[in-house]
Amino acid sequence: MKKVILTGDRPTGRLHVGHYAGSLKERVKLQNSGEYDDIYIMIADAQALTDNAEHPEKVRQNILQVALDYLACGIDPNKSTIFVQSMIPELTELTFYYMNLVTVSRVQRNPTVKAEIQMRNFEASIPVGFFCYPISQAADITAFRATAVPVGEDQLPMLEQCKEIVHKFNSVYGETLTEPQIILPSNKACLRLPGIDGKAKMSKSLGNCIYLAEEPEDIKKKVMSMFTDPNHLRVEDPGKVEGNPVFIYLDAFCRDEHFAEFWNDYSCLDELKAHYQRGGLGDVKVKKFLNNVMQEELRPIRERRKEWENHLPDVLDILKEGSKVAKETAAKTLEDVRHSMRIDYF
Ligand code: ATP
Ligand code: MG
Repeated sequence: MKKVILTGDRPTGRLHVGHYAGSLKERVKLQNSGEYDDIYIMIADAQALTDNAEHPEKVRQNILQVALDYLACGIDPNKSTIFVQSMIPELTELTFYYMNLVTVSRVQRNPTVKAEIQMRNFEASIPVGFFCYPISQAADITAFRATAVPVGEDQLPMLEQCKEIVHKFNSVYGETLTEPQIILPSNKACLRLPGIDGKAKMSKSLGNCIYLAEEPEDIKKKVMSMFTDPNHLRVEDPGKVEGNPVFIYLDAFCRDEHFAEFWNDYSCLDELKAHYQRGGLGDVKVKKFLNNVMQEELRPIRERRKEWENHLPDVLDILKEGSKVAKETAAKTLEDVRHSMRIDYF
């Protein structure tokens, strides 16, 4: 069986270090491992419209921004197919057929959907399209016969729902669709990176992000303003590292080499943590170190992004070519689906 990756992001804003830790970094690694036959990376504009129906221009503008972020992080258009979801209408048709295989109460039980409805204050006014987005995500994944989906932890319920749709489809209409596996980042700190405000998830919609394209001064300002342990008031107080965003970011991005480079008082993160927990180490010092770590991680990304910004027509060509390739693949799956459902009349 072919090994295929499908993953993507909603063009609701520029990408941030949460995306990078939770998904992008892993994708680049998988892309360069050479283990996959095909890699599809989707800019999910149709999904973004499910809760941005009145802001189509915002979604439109961010398609290019997300594409630039991809290229900046090392997604290579010669190895990965980058495409725009709405350019593949086959995905919408698949969604429509899959809707018959899922109950309303099943979608209502999806914990990510629940949390997002609450976050967006939708409660009594949930757009039907938004409610159905887990089903459209199942269409995206299965259209490419993805075997692997590298995403952040918040996507686990979506993958579960997708697998159920695959089983249901195959049992009703005969073996047709491929079951995908989720690939979560191996580093636990990357599963769900908190925001700089300490909220559970860094998210475009919450405005608590460090963006990949951020300028050095802004990175510094954000890192220095980060939420830490609220009970660590004086330098001599013992501090908590669990649940402390500064240490979660260090867990996600710091390597032992960073100590030799920026802070040779310590040789590894465990030593630094032990000192913080004992007391006698101030937040400002730790934040300065984190700033150095983040600056080093983000510099090459920002520089590569600036180079691509000078070649925007090439970026658009990459999306256009990618969408053409993706459409062919999705059309083949749709043909199989229609055949299995016996709705290929003439
Ligand atoms: P929105 O607020 O518009 O939903 P978002 O910031 O949640 O935007 P998505 O486009 O929904 O971003 O998510 C894209 C991918 O990035 C998914 O795989 C998701 O799991 C991952 N991701 C998003 N935020 C984080 C985070 N804070 N930590 C780890 N992974 C994340
Ligand atoms: Mg999201």
